[in-house]
Amino acid sequence: MDDARPPYIDLHASGELEQIADRLEKRLEACDICPRLCGVNRLRGERGYCHSLEKPVVASYCEHRGEEPVLSGSRGSGTIFFANCNLRCVYCQNYQISQDWQGQEVNTVTVETLAGYMLELQNRGCHNLNLVSPSHFVPQIVRALGLAVPLGFRLPVVYNTNSYDSLETLAELEGVVSIYLPDLKYADDQQAKKYSRAADYTLHARQSIREMYRQAGGLKLDENGMGVKGVLVRHLILPGGIAGTRESLAWLSEEVSREVGLSLMSQYHPSNWAKRYAEINRNILKEEYGAALRIANEYGFKRTFVQGLSSPQSYLPDFNLGKPFGN
Ligand code: SF4
Repeated sequence: MDDARPPYIDLHASGELEQIADRLEKRLEACDICPRLCGVNRLRGERGYCHSLEKPVVASYCEHRGEEPVLSGSRGSGTIFFANCNLRCVYCQNYQISQDWQGQEVNTVTVETLAGYMLELQNRGCHNLNLVSPSHFVPQIVRALGLAVPLGFRLPVVYNTNSYDSLETLAELEGVVSIYLPDLKYADDQQAKKYSRAADYTLHARQSIREMYRQAGGLKLDENGMGVKGVLVRHLILPGGIAGTRESLAWLSEEVSREVGLSLMSQYHPSNWAKRYAEINRNILKEEYGAALRIANEYGFKRTFVQGLSSPQSYLPDFNLGKPFGN
């Protein structure tokens, strides 16, 4: 099968994409779309943990130039930022988007409008469709995709998630998503509970990443170096070892694969409520990031992406883990 051809085209042609959207939308009546299992009827205006209802809420969309080079390329990653979130990280750098659901209500759109955003990003020349914080809007995304495909939409879909996903929901995305871009935030549920309000994060994130790998495999690039298929895991280094880097990367290499892409993120800075937690009320140190790089090197991931410390909004090109770390 041609990895560059988005598999959802065949799903649409066979009518399956519409059936997937039907099944997912039905689940909104007693919402179990993510592991929170709120059971609320989102179609009747009941709000669960993510405060999201029937219609998608899109905070913004754009050509994103600061993602990993295999996603941003030369023309940008066509990024749609969904509002609200099913985690509540105390240090969230996008808390106005993820945690102010009342402020974001003004950005509520129809699935037809969402499909229009997808097509617009394709028309702007973006390499892919990058769905940021999609977990609580999967039914709406699949429905919108089904509307966009007959209008010519063909970009590979990137599922850019915090990994607090439901296995049942991910199973519906097989053949819809080309590239999974999951966070691996913690290795310890005490930390996950304290900083992200998810006491079972590790279980769900790990089983989700396993499922993503089962569906998409290791990260594959085309002849131009752009990602076409596979899993690219993001690990945000937190101050004081709170992210559990060694444990998480050991698990990823031994229980999943070294063929997944690994993105080590240095961009942490204390936002939102982080100032209330002395241990995370600082940027990460150069030594902490260097230690994370050495751990990644030790576990032998095939392709690792590294952010600069002084300019974490961009990735260092051609980074070789054998070189000393610096800016
Ligand atoms: S998607 Fe939202 S309402 Fe549904 S289970 Fe998750 S947090 Fe609850």
